[in-house]
Amino acid sequence: MKPYDYLIVGSGLFGSTFAYLAKQRGKRCLVIDRRPHLGGNVYCKEMEGICVHWYGPHIFHTSNQDVWNLVTSIVNMNRFTLSTIANAKGKLFNLPFNMNTFYQIWGVTTPEEAKHKLETECAEYRNIEPHNLEEQALKLVGRDIYELLIKEYTEKQWGRKCTELPAFIIKRLPVRLTYNNNYFKDLYQGIPEGGYDRLVNGLLKDIECRTGCDYLENKSFWDSQASTIVYTGPIDEFYDYRMGHLEYRSLHFEHELLHTGNYQGNAIINYTTHDVPYTRIVEHKHFDINNFTSLNSPLTVITREYPLLGNDCEPFYPINDIRNSQLYERYLTLANQETNIIFGGRLATYSYVNMDEVIASAMAKFYLSEKINNK
Ligand code: UDP
Repeated sequence: MKPYDYLIVGSGLFGSTFAYLAKQRGKRCLVIDRRPHLGGNVYCKEMEGICVHWYGPHIFHTSNQDVWNLVTSIVNMNRFTLSTIANAKGKLFNLPFNMNTFYQIWGVTTPEEAKHKLETECAEYRNIEPHNLEEQALKLVGRDIYELLIKEYTEKQWGRKCTELPAFIIKRLPVRLTYNNNYFKDLYQGIPEGGYDRLVNGLLKDIECRTGCDYLENKSFWDSQASTIVYTGPIDEFYDYRMGHLEYRSLHFEHELLHTGNYQGNAIINYTTHDVPYTRIVEHKHFDINNFTSLNSPLTVITREYPLLGNDCEPFYPINDIRNSQLYERYLTLANQETNIIFGGRLATYSYVNMDEVIASAMAKFYLSEKINNK
């Protein structure tokens, strides 16, 4: 008999949720992570009493009641609501695209005027089925907004033309005829009080975890440790890139401690034009809306987020263009033939999923695995 029922490779939200559910069912779990800390990309680091989202801003939002129930059974969520600001050549605009944005761009003040303007702007794209991000954006908001707030930002971020990116990416952003700057449409939204580490540590409570362990470096040893492997790393790396590299968008973060209490007055400001090399500046204390020690501190921490591409960079976002999607399908065919490996999370399923979707899929895959094992 092997020492563990599940070896969970990667302690991000997929791995942590899976381990939590397995532990609750009395399963013997071991979680390993090659980074020196747990939590994957939701990991937060405290700097001068400020909780810093170390791998980019994470705002939890969901309409999935089961996911919300699970998360809030472990941590208190604060009432943070994301309302991003876009800075285009020094001028500020509200995001997502709503009455405030339409007023700032076109001077329209009523929903009727905005609707009319949008219809005129988008008229030539109304009947097209968008094949790429550019066509989708033009169909949604027209050329003025596309050129000011979308085109250069997206191309800077993804390192490729909007015509070479899938349409679904821009559909993540709502378009509204109300003065509502809430970036998300979901029923629930917030950030764990005290940071995401509380959520991850809560999920992994009383579970054996080892950091600094690279599964693929000693795969046969780790495979001997558990009946089922839950793998959350990049799928192409799992198969030693035998069919080629999948491309991922990476990021470079420049964290800076500043001797000022409030640098930009908002959690996230996007820089949507090419003249600025970074895509956004995050000011972390604004996420922690119930933490007055952090909010009133004379210090602040900001992060400039720069785009990064290349096979040697750390993977963050899958680039779901045609070539990569076809390559992923070939890896998926291999993955589907495995009998004791579960692939989960953004990297192993090569999908641009949000945190709640990751948790939901960990729940679904765990229950399915138990069903199969109990047969
Ligand atoms: N986007 C944009 N301008 C912005 C913000 C977003 O064009 O100021 C587009 C861009 O193509 C981006 C997509 O919307 O990749 C999704 O943005 P989101 O904020 O959801 O990205 P994430 O938070 O996942 O980095």
